[in-house]
Amino acid sequence: MRTPLIAGNWKMYKTASESAAYAEQFKPKVAGLVGVDIALCPPATNLKSLADALAGSRIGLGAQDVFWKAEGAFTGMIAPRMLVDLCCQYVIVGHSERRGRFGVADVETPPETLSVFGDNDMTVNRKVLAALGAGLVPIMCCGEMLSEREAGQTELVVRTQVTRGLEGVSAEQAAGMVIAYEPVWAIGTGRVCNPDDANAVIGTIRAVVRGLFAGAADSMRILYGGSVKSGNVREQMLQPEIDGALVGGASLDPEEFSRICHSAAEAAMARG
Ligand code: PEP
Repeated sequence: MRTPLIAGNWKMYKTASESAAYAEQFKPKVAGLVGVDIALCPPATNLKSLADALAGSRIGLGAQDVFWKAEGAFTGMIAPRMLVDLCCQYVIVGHSERRGRFGVADVETPPETLSVFGDNDMTVNRKVLAALGAGLVPIMCCGEMLSEREAGQTELVVRTQVTRGLEGVSAEQAAGMVIAYEPVWAIGTGRVCNPDDANAVIGTIRAVVRGLFAGAADSMRILYGGSVKSGNVREQMLQPEIDGALVGGASLDPEEFSRICHSAAEAAMARG
């Protein structure tokens, strides 16, 4: 039986003091809630203040990215052991906003319309391996762009991303990992994926994992992400393959995020 995970990805929102204030509002709203694990993934600058504010609660802490080296001359990067030292349990890896799939930079293109971070399946794999090596749980993101969905390539895209992202991972490590299926066209658009479709793609991902590591597929949590809100999380969570949600915009408000957590827990209970 997999305990669902509801993880909030705050992206580049909130300061350290705003994070601590959020925690004070959020904690009592989910205190005593059973049946789901909850995690918050703030900007790296806020990990310490949020870790302090969440101490003693059941709410987990995650980072939004990590570098694969343990230390060195890598200006601006953060090593897995630095996240562990700040009490992180989770780290998001390969979010579509970090993958280099949005276009090619040229002098005419404003950099904020591109992915300037350039993650690809190989760097995602390195980050996954480094995170696991340090004892972190990677939340590895995958998902197709709209053009790929329209071309009937969804399965091929997620199959490739998952297979490459998990290269060199052991069966035991895979069992404890999290994958988030996040169709790129559903992120931040208000266009949530049809729950049957999300369930089918997540079923495909689980079949890929089963093909790579017999046994790990039944333990690994595979989440849906993309415009999840309190009004639509229930229908996603009633799907048998969906083990939780990665929530962006709607996790920024403690009231709304607590409604999502409660609704997910109720749906998980109803589905049995
Ligand atoms: C995300 O950032 O992972 C995400 C799913 O964003 P949103 O919920 O805002 O679509």
